[in-house]
Amino acid sequence: MLQQTQVSRVIPRYIEWLARWPTVASLAAASPADVIRAWQGLGYNRRALNLHRAARFVAAHGWPDDLTELPGVGPYTAAAIGNFAFGRPVLPVDVNVRRVLERTRAGFSPEAAQALFDLGATVCLARMPRCGVCPLAADCPSRGRTYEPERKQGPFEGSFRQRRARLLRLVADSPQPADLDPEAVAALHRDGLVHVDSGLVSLPR
Ligand code: SF4
Repeated sequence: MLQQTQVSRVIPRYIEWLARWPTVASLAAASPADVIRAWQGLGYNRRALNLHRAARFVAAHGWPDDLTELPGVGPYTAAAIGNFAFGRPVLPVDVNVRRVLERTRAGFSPEAAQALFDLGATVCLARMPRCGVCPLAADCPSRGRTYEPERKQGPFEGSFRQRRARLLRLVADSPQPADLDPEAVAALHRDGLVHVDSGLVSLPR
C-alpha cells in the first residue's frame, strides 16, 4: 500500500482492510472483485491481486519456507516479511536502507532493520541528509555531503497509468463497454485485473 501512496493516506485504508480481512483465511475467501474494489486509489492494482493470490496460496498450503514462492513476493518483500513477521535473521534492504548502507559503508545486523528504515526515511534523506541529528554521524564517511535529485517517475496526469486507473475505477462500479479504451482494457486484462466477455469489461469473479 505504501509504494505509491503517502503514509497518512494509507493508515485509514490499512486499518479498514485489516478490519474487513483480519486473517489470511478471510482474505483468501474474498472474491478478486472485492479485493480490487477495496484497493482502489492505492495504485499498483496488481499488488492487490498478488496479495489475494498469496493469501489463497497460504490458506491452501501454509507459509512456504521460501517466501519468494508467494505471488508477487520478490527477495526484498520476502526479507521484510521474514524479519518483521517471523523474526528471521535477514536484513530487508529497501531504497532507504540501501542509502544508509552505501553512505555509512557499515554492516548492520538484521535486528537493526526497523531503525535503519526510520533513519533512511527521516534523517539520511536522499538529497539533503540531516547529518547534524544523525546518531551515526561520528563514524560516517559521507557526513555533510549533499546529493543531486534522483530521477522521478513521469507525471501521473495525462499518463497511460492514469487511463488504466480511471478505467479500472469505472469497471469497479459497473461493467463497461470494451471499446471505451481498448488499449487500457488490454493492459488491465493482461494483468488479470479485468474480465472481458461479449464486449463488456468487468472485474474478475
Ligand atoms: S551522517 Fe549523514 S550521510 Fe551519514 S548516515 Fe547520517 S545522515 Fe546519512
